[in-house]
Amino acid sequence: MIDRSQSFFGLMLVAAMGVLGCSSEDGGPKPGPGSTAVAKPAESPPSSAEKGSKVSSETPGAASDAPEQKDIIVKSEEEWKKILTPEQFRILRQKGTERAFTGKYWNTKEPGMYRCAGCGLELFSSDAKFDSGCGWPSFDKALAEGKITEHLDLSHGMVRTEVCCARCGGHLGHLFDDGPTATGMRYCINSASIEHAKSEAKPESGGSKP
Ligand SMILES: [Zn+2]
Repeated sequence: MIDRSQSFFGLMLVAAMGVLGCSSEDGGPKPGPGSTAVAKPAESPPSSAEKGSKVSSETPGAASDAPEQKDIIVKSEEEWKKILTPEQFRILRQKGTERAFTGKYWNTKEPGMYRCAGCGLELFSSDAKFDSGCGWPSFDKALAEGKITEHLDLSHGMVRTEVCCARCGGHLGHLFDDGPTATGMRYCINSASIEHAKSEAKPESGGSKP
């Protein structure tokens, strides 16, 4: 008995829903022409593509001290000759070496930043400079990871590690692992490969000494 009444009630519901369903079908999909349904998807792909390109253009902007692939400086030999002195060109672009104790920074102790003489990338801080006694400016570490690239150098019958500016590829000098400081590293750099920029905002400017 109970089953019957339930099924009867269920039938009534089904019938009612059927009626509603029919009426909604009549007033629903038919008025909305199929053409609009087709037109919408045709417009949507370009907008999604725009979103995709925006996202991809934002991701490479991640800040880093290391030069990105897009920042790498490539110049012809003639272009480098125009902006470098003959000595800078010989060392930076032809992997030359200045004579010991002849460069302008081998004995410099002034605070400041040492930039690549070719492209201006900051490479070393004066804080990392130490007196190695070898006649070339020496540093125990680079300013940050990725500033300098290392390459195996087998020239002159020696096995050495050549160090270059990561941005312009300019030859800086060599890296040895006999450094006297905690890093154990000795970046032996040609003065001609770097430019010293005195650090400003030191007590002298604010302290108003006579
Ligand atoms: Zn450089």
